[in-house]
Amino acid sequence: MSAPTRRLTVKDVVDYEWCPAKLWFKYYGPRLSWRPRHYTGEERIDHDETVRIVGEALGRGMEECTIIREPLLHGITLPVTGRPDMIAYCPDTCVAVEVKTRRSPWGLAELQAGLYKTILEEQSECRNRETVALIVEDGTARRVDPDRSTIALKVRRALEVLRTRTPPEPSRPSRACRACQYRRVCPYSQE
Ligand code: SF4
Repeated sequence: MSAPTRRLTVKDVVDYEWCPAKLWFKYYGPRLSWRPRHYTGEERIDHDETVRIVGEALGRGMEECTIIREPLLHGITLPVTGRPDMIAYCPDTCVAVEVKTRRSPWGLAELQAGLYKTILEEQSECRNRETVALIVEDGTARRVDPDRSTIALKVRRALEVLRTRTPPEPSRPSRACRACQYRRVCPYSQE
């Protein structure tokens, strides 16, 4: 995979947060014969139930909202592309929804939903509407309110990682190594 010079995916930024070296290996490491299958939350949770939970969280009926499943969003000033599980375009609100079937560590779900919200704010359809990001899990929804400058900083740092010639040493011993597909080739693996 060749390294992106200007644009990342939301998953890249989440991988960076998981472990900067993991993001580096994703682009410069050996090709792995096994790659994890990517499931979206909506594949496992009933769509109508998700819409009901979102409506409850917003305190509104969803009949007037246009719902699009897994749309591809391109940031305009934020050089990131991503595909949330669902977007609801309601008359006064644009809502990005990420569905999780279990809690992810280290605030990764919050970062993911925060990235979607930041990208959504830049879409022309949402300019005059409130934007909301929701994580749906365990039958409830919680709002994510990211700090835009923190999100932009993480994206910049993730891009910087891909400009280095060697994998960056993680700043903390990573508890993530056991679940990392690069643990056999990574010099920093704790496994
Ligand atoms: S093995 Fe551990 S340190 Fe190496 S890339 Fe994976 S998570 Fe990071």
